[in-house]
Amino acid sequence: MKRALVIGSGAGGATAAKELQGAFDVTVLEAGGEFRPLSLNLRTMERLKSTHLLFDERLIHFPFPAMQIRKTPDLVLVNGIGTGGSTAICCGNAVRMDQDLRALGINLDAEFEEIFREIPISTAHQKVWRKHTRQLFQIFQEMGLQPMPMPKMGDFARCKSCGRCMFGCPEGVKWDSRQYLDAAMAKGAELITGCSVESVAIEDGRVTGAWARQGLLHHFYPADLVILAAGGFATPAILDESGIPCEPHLFVDPVLTVATHWPGSHQCREVEMPFVAQSPGYILSPYFDFLSFFFNDEWKHPARDILGIMIKLADSNEGSVTRHGVQKTLTDTDREQLNAAQGVATEILCRLGAKEEDVFLGTVNAGHPGGSLPLTEREAGSLHHERLPHNLYVADASLLPRSLGNPPILTIIALAKRVSALARQTTG
Ligand SMILES: Cc1cc2nc3c(=O)[nH]c(=O)nc-3n(C[C@H](O)[C@H](O)[C@H](O)COP(=O)(O)OP(=O)(O)OC[C@H]3O[C@@H](n4cnc5c(N)ncnc54)[C@H](O)[C@@H]3O)c2cc1C
Ligand code: SF4
Repeated sequence: MKRALVIGSGAGGATAAKELQGAFDVTVLEAGGEFRPLSLNLRTMERLKSTHLLFDERLIHFPFPAMQIRKTPDLVLVNGIGTGGSTAICCGNAVRMDQDLRALGINLDAEFEEIFREIPISTAHQKVWRKHTRQLFQIFQEMGLQPMPMPKMGDFARCKSCGRCMFGCPEGVKWDSRQYLDAAMAKGAELITGCSVESVAIEDGRVTGAWARQGLLHHFYPADLVILAAGGFATPAILDESGIPCEPHLFVDPVLTVATHWPGSHQCREVEMPFVAQSPGYILSPYFDFLSFFFNDEWKHPARDILGIMIKLADSNEGSVTRHGVQKTLTDTDREQLNAAQGVATEILCRLGAKEEDVFLGTVNAGHPGGSLPLTEREAGSLHHERLPHNLYVADASLLPRSLGNPPILTIIALAKRVSALARQTTG
């Protein structure tokens, strides 16, 4: 049987592994290790914070290796590293966001139907919303913001509302792409962890395999088909290292949390982003921002006494990733949008009863990288860019035409399903 390499085991990679195993002998090369939830509890993290040892967001990697952080002057950039990729540290939000793809002529209805059969999605967490969340929902309604309970991936009827979604669900409630990975492995796929792909080898216009670093060693993995799904930061770097530059259209969906002192709110122990309000260019959602709480000195109150509203921005597609690193700043338009949204979030908190002088801001962070190899009408049928050899496909957020400003996992999975089907046809 022909051999396929799938690089990465996040939303796109695990999907591709599941879809391709059987038609190919699939090997998944995964840079990180087996995902392990953060073992430290909030009290221990609060104690660590009080020692001032948590002075840089990148340090989170030590207690929690599944979270990788890069920094640019404007932004803290977050992604998951290890089995499940960023899905293992996600909030479980499940929304279909393929309107830009549809506009290009890419109809993913069949793939979404399949996803909705495979992944349980519900708003069952509503039954454990705390009082302040129900109050916020009402305020959003009164302000005409049309809040909607957030659909979540997993068995959310069992959600304990512990608030640890982004550190790995201790109850096994939240769905993540390790379930697709397990399905692929049950059919015979091989997983190699601790294997960081650096480049793909190209000979006579076709890919012959991938070069990867494992500890101090370099290995070559031969293949008939390579699916690159290392995520929006790593896939463009691997392509660049392989002599295939991407485009300077990186988006990241920046997040700014507007928070207030709200004694006894315990938002830190509640499901993250219980509901969402869509506005042109951004979304608003209740959110306890752990990164800001741990690492931002302005966040002085105990975790249980902080209440926040997240702004997630659909940022300008301006930024680049090369083998030398990530370049991304907020544009003037991004800043104007954030300022406008900040005004709305502040009004929400004030309507709840907060004093404007008690409102404080989080660190701008971002965890939805993509857009460096955006699909256009030209690739609507093949989902394959001309600059790639015929047996090399990309199946992750790099393909998205522009920032969604919204949770992208379901849309990436749908794209990866279609990419896998096309790769089977052309290379199988
Ligand atoms: C904290 C957080 C919360 C989020 N919450 C949500 C949410 O609730 N809902 C939602 O829809 N989206 C959410 N997202 C975004 C979502 O998780 C990502 O957009 C999505 O997982 C991206 O899919 P991907 O396949 O492009 O990359 P990823 O899922 O990041 O997968 C990339 C994979 O490649 C591996 N890898 C990286 N480099 C290499 C290499 N060199 N060699 C081999 N393997 C490599 C990584 O370890 C990883 O397994 C969240 C993101 C973050 C950071
Ligand atoms: S709130 Fe807790 S129990 Fe519920 S999904 Fe998140 S981590 Fe799991």
